[in-house]
Amino acid sequence: MGDGRTLDPKGTIAERLGALGVRGVLVQMARNGQILDLKCEMPTCYREREDPNGRTLFDPWPEQRSAPEHRWSPNADHYPTLKMDGGQLKPWNVRLAHVLCNNLDYGWRKRIRLMLEDNPKLSFESIAEVLNRRKRVLRPPQAESWTAEIVRGAYVS
Ligand SMILES: [Zn+2]
Repeated sequence: MGDGRTLDPKGTIAERLGALGVRGVLVQMARNGQILDLKCEMPTCYREREDPNGRTLFDPWPEQRSAPEHRWSPNADHYPTLKMDGGQLKPWNVRLAHVLCNNLDYGWRKRIRLMLEDNPKLSFESIAEVLNRRKRVLRPPQAESWTAEIVRGAYVS
């Protein structure tokens, strides 16, 4: 994963984000004192599963920004208003996330949401069963399988 490149821990958050290849709203927010730590702010951080300090470990954006090595690069999550609900990347609607943590969170959220839109009476128990049947839906770290509680927790976080 990491390529051994270390970041200057003395730089400002904005400088460190810049060194990781981040541009745009996150850098502006860091300059304005709105991003206080270089830390994945998602409710579930998958890098934490690999390293207790995982939330603070970011890899630089690869030259080709769509390359798979981007999974631990920093990006902006639309929060609290999802992009699909018209949320924009503005200082009042952004949290800092690893690309992978952001993508997985969005993946569950959208899946759960579509199931509920389709059937508003669907229990979270039934949603958990559906998620467990899908081999490709990653569970949150430390969870054996999806449960109603985990689904609810992921959805309301
Ligand atoms: Zn993360």
